[in-house]
Amino acid sequence: MDGALDPGAHRTPRHPAWRDVDEATWRDWRWQLRHRVTSEEHLGELIALTESERRGLRGRAEAFPMAVTPYYLSLFGDARCPVRRQAVPLAAELEREPWDMRDPLAEEEHSPVPILSHRYPDRALMYVSHSCPVYCRHCTRQRKVGDVASAPAAAELEAAVDYLRATPKIKDVLLSGGDPLSLSDDKLVRVVEMVRAVSSVEVIRLCTRNPVTLPFRLTSALLQRLRAFHPIFVSTHFNHPSECTPEAGEALNRLADAGFNVGNQMVLLAGINDDAMIVERLNRWLVRHRCRPYYMFQCDPVAGTAHLRTPIATGLAILDALRGRVSGLAIPQFAVDLPGGGGKVTLSPDRVVRVDGDRWIFRDFKGEQFTYVDRPRRRLDVIS
Ligand code: SF4
Repeated sequence: MDGALDPGAHRTPRHPAWRDVDEATWRDWRWQLRHRVTSEEHLGELIALTESERRGLRGRAEAFPMAVTPYYLSLFGDARCPVRRQAVPLAAELEREPWDMRDPLAEEEHSPVPILSHRYPDRALMYVSHSCPVYCRHCTRQRKVGDVASAPAAAELEAAVDYLRATPKIKDVLLSGGDPLSLSDDKLVRVVEMVRAVSSVEVIRLCTRNPVTLPFRLTSALLQRLRAFHPIFVSTHFNHPSECTPEAGEALNRLADAGFNVGNQMVLLAGINDDAMIVERLNRWLVRHRCRPYYMFQCDPVAGTAHLRTPIATGLAILDALRGRVSGLAIPQFAVDLPGGGGKVTLSPDRVVRVDGDRWIFRDFKGEQFTYVDRPRRRLDVIS
């Protein structure tokens, strides 16, 4: 899997089942979506499934099914592979803990109209599609995602835009889902156009995992149409260096070249990326491709994800290890989204050793101690 980071490689090796597909077809995002693997039977023909995976696939087929693009499946290794573990359910998904929740961020409680959630004063989130190329096993919105029947209707979209118009304090609109890039070009451009026409909206954010799971979706044609509505920020979701392929890098470069400001929101996942060296390699690659590591999230307590959650101390230890080793550009904020709808809190390792009067004693990344002498605020008349 480390070969995925080789800058000399131009293509990710494909699974043998698709080796003979011509390159243009392989890079056609519609072909990739049409050929997604969605059943235990099909997946079992392509990889040697473990008993735990078979039980997970059967047990979750109704509530939160599996789907994976041929491209993403081609990154799979053995059962411990960090890519495979994000896409194929295990039997552990059937276990429940008392504090597991269906909607941990209380998005539905803060939903004044059906496809819009308004939790923070100046921001709103719209669910414009409930479909994704790959269904991530740690998904916070697994209550909605994959449920085709709950896809937003045109009237709901109009109602959400009416709400934005009537609520001018909303300056920042996140288009999410599911994945907004699951819409056709025409539909996505229409949604962005409608939101941009609301004069009080300053920033639009597209939340998409397509650069990771289906990078061919980021076509130059789509980006040329969307750039008419800048400023658009893109939030993507790389979790592991094995996802950092030449194709994914090309998609990020196309986004940056077209003027999108791209940030990454990784989720800490046990046995997948809960290691400072992995996060460092991932973030160095992202920065090289002009994608800023923005958040490192504590995994939300969604039912079925207990086996993927890490202790909060793990996130703090990773940040502590990164500071001083890599540029601040490659260090994300570590955030916990408070269960019940309290919003995000960000945590950082404590570098204050003690405070003696006006002397603050800090430790640096090597553990050495340094003193900063604090002073009361000076009067401004010292300037004249
Ligand atoms: S792409 Fe995002 S919304 Fe879709 S399944 Fe993955 S985490 Fe959930």
